[in-house]
Formats: sequence, C-alpha cells, structure tokens
Amino acid sequence: MRRKYDHVVIGSGSAGCVIAARLAEEGSATVLLLEAGPPDRHIHIRMPAALGFLLTNRRFNWFYEPEPEPQLDGRRVSEARGRVLGRSSSIDGMNWVRGNPWDNDNRAALGNAGWSHAGVLPYFRKAETFAGGANACRGGERPMPVETCGRQTRSSTPSCAPGRRPGCRLWRITTPIGRRACTSASAMSATASAGPPPRATSVHSLPGRT
Ligand SMILES: Cc1cc2nc3c(=O)[nH]c(=O)nc-3n(C[C@H](O)[C@H](O)[C@H](O)COP(=O)(O)OP(=O)(O)OC[C@H]3O[C@@H](n4cnc5c(N)ncnc54)[C@H](O)[C@@H]3O)c2cc1C
Repeated sequence: MRRKYDHVVIGSGSAGCVIAARLAEEGSATVLLLEAGPPDRHIHIRMPAALGFLLTNRRFNWFYEPEPEPQLDGRRVSEARGRVLGRSSSIDGMNWVRGNPWDNDNRAALGNAGWSHAGVLPYFRKAETFAGGANACRGGERPMPVETCGRQTRSSTPSCAPGRRPGCRLWRITTPIGRRACTSASAMSATASAGPPPRATSVHSLPGRT
C-alpha cells in the first residue's frame, strides 16, 4: 500500500465511492478508499435474484440490531446494512427512484435553496446513463446504468402506466444485462476508463479488522 495519499475516503458506500471517483478523475491527486468489508467480487452480488442470500449473509451485511421497540411489543426490527465494497448499494434492491418533482419544489419553497426539481435534475442526470437514451430528463454519460423494468405484471401495469396516476409509473432499475450495477463497480470502472489513474485510486478492503 502507498504510504501517502492526497485524499483518504473512509467507507466505500454510495457516497464514498462517488467522492473517491470524482477526486481521482481530477487526475493528479492520489486517493485511498478504505472499506471494512470484503471486495465485491462475488456471484451473489452480481446476480439480482440472489438478493435474499446477501441479506442473510453476515459476510456482506452488518445485521444491525436496534433497541427493542415498545410500540412493537418489545421486538427488535433488524436493519440490513452493506458490509462490502459499495456498502449498501451492493446488497440493496436495485430500484432507481427519483421521487416526485412536486416534493422537491415544495422542499425548495420551504426555504431549501437549490433543492427544487430544476435544481436537483442536473445531478440526477449526471449520475446515470439511461438505456433509452439521453434527453432533457435522463442522463447519458455517467456511470450508473439505468433502465425501465422490463417485466410488467397485472398489478403494476394498469395503475402505474405513465399518465394514469400522477407521480406513479413503472420503476427504473440498475441491472444492465441482468447484473447488479452497484456504486462501487459503476463509479470505479468509470474512473478507470476516464483517464490517468490507475495510480490515482487505491481501494483497500480490510475484512476482519473492525
Ligand atoms: C436491504 C436494502 C435495500 C435497499 N434498496 C434500495 C433500492 O432498491 N433503491 C435505492 O435507491 N436504495 C435502496 N437502499 C438504500 C441504498 O442502498 C442506500 O441509501 C445507499 O447505498 C446509502 O449510501 P451511503 O453512501 O449514504 O451509505 P452506506 O452505503 O451505508 O455507507 C456509509 C458509509 O459510512 C461509513 N460510516 C458510517 N458511520 C461512520 C462513522 N461514524 N465513521 C466513519 N465511517 C462511518 C460506513 O462504514 C459506510 O462505509 C437499500 C438499502 C438496503 C440496506
């Protein structure tokens, strides 16, 4: 491992991976991304239908145990959290949901400058490459591959067809060619293909050292 880095990013969650990738894209800076869990090269991480295995595997899941909830007759509601490169994005449900534009506009109207639909749209576009092609709403150049869920069921089609119910539509997923696209794989592979690094980015998994 190199001894000195310009930036050290602790935790390879969605945010950590993107921050490390963006810093590395600047070219000259050296970046160390540290992760307590193992690398994300495992068939169950790449295979969307294997989600159930990930959620029951202590190798990839912290299995947080919250305090007993008095309102739930003292039961503890187990909380899944990723413990692997990409963190929760490596064990999550792969749904790509932006929310309702009205919610963002309302948030801005309550005094949160920059959080309107128009304010956040460039960042949504900047994160993704949409399988249907880029347009004013969808992005076309960035790491996360997004597509519309191809399988429509009787329950999803009538109520969720665009235009049938405001703010509700068929959902988007991040499983190009049938594989999970987690933040680590997407952000890091984009960085690798973007230019100067390899020397700029080091990713270290430290399983068993927490
Ligand atoms: C089972 C499951 C299913 C999900 N399904 C979906 C879905 O379908 N669609 C969707 O959009 N989202 C989904 N999510 C949520 C999504 O995966 C997360 O919101 C996202 O990955 C969070 O990214 P993050 O970087 O904010 O946090 P994380 O990925 O949790 O990473 C946080 C990082 O911060 C580190 N950290 C935390 N506390 C400290 C500290 N005190 N000091 C130092 N480091 C610290 C952690 O170790 C970790 O590396 C799901 C999540 C789970 C668990």
